Amino acid sequence: MQTGKAKVLVVEDEASIRKFIGINLNRNDFAVLEAEDGETALEMARNFAPDVVILDVMLPSIDGFEVCMQIRRMMPRVVIIMLTAKGEDMDKIMGLELGADDYMVKPFNPLELVARIRANLRKLASYVPQVKAGFLCFQQLKLDLEGQRFYKNEEEIELTPTEFAMMKVFMKNPQKAFTRDEMMNHVWGRNYFGDLKTVDVNIRRIREKLEDDPSAPRWIETVWGIGYRLKGTGGNA
Ligand code: CA
Repeated sequence: MQTGKAKVLVVEDEASIRKFIGINLNRNDFAVLEAEDGETALEMARNFAPDVVILDVMLPSIDGFEVCMQIRRMMPRVVIIMLTAKGEDMDKIMGLELGADDYMVKPFNPLELVARIRANLRKLASYVPQVKAGFLCFQQLKLDLEGQRFYKNEEEIELTPTEFAMMKVFMKNPQKAFTRDEMMNHVWGRNYFGDLKTVDVNIRRIREKLEDDPSAPRWIETVWGIGYRLKGTGGNA
């Protein structure tokens, strides 16, 4: 992260909610940009390169899902937090599958949003190089900590910040099984109270990118009653 204030783009068509979020983020030392529709959001994302995007699902013309996908495609490392209305469970999950890092259900406590933003930014900062020119390698997998890239058989696989942070945890501890709770603590921090399903959704996304057959995963194994572990292929490599 650069030393200046983190830039947050708030995308919400309801002016009262948008202003309310903006005021609270400003008060907590974030630089805030506001967009009231998807098109403006995409343009602002392109021009201002925000660190975080707070993105409402229900937007006129281009909806939040589409905006999410396009921003993710444009900026693989931006933190995207979706805002959903109560009861939009499917929407939450879809939001995550489209590349969002987190979601919040409206109405929410603005301080909770601030906490989520900070947790996600910390997670992002934690994989900014701590080791110079460091690589983590496991069988055919390679994690470039400095370049923040991930490779399988020397071919790059593009990961979101959350997926990258999770692979880093796995690759530091191959063969170790992690519970969803442990994974959440490692990736999002101890004071984060998110939905454990978020871990499952991210695992599914990683498998889709990593596995030859995501329905019969050979790299990331489900450990019954526990969670997940990086097993690798062959078993005796
Ligand atoms: Ca809305």
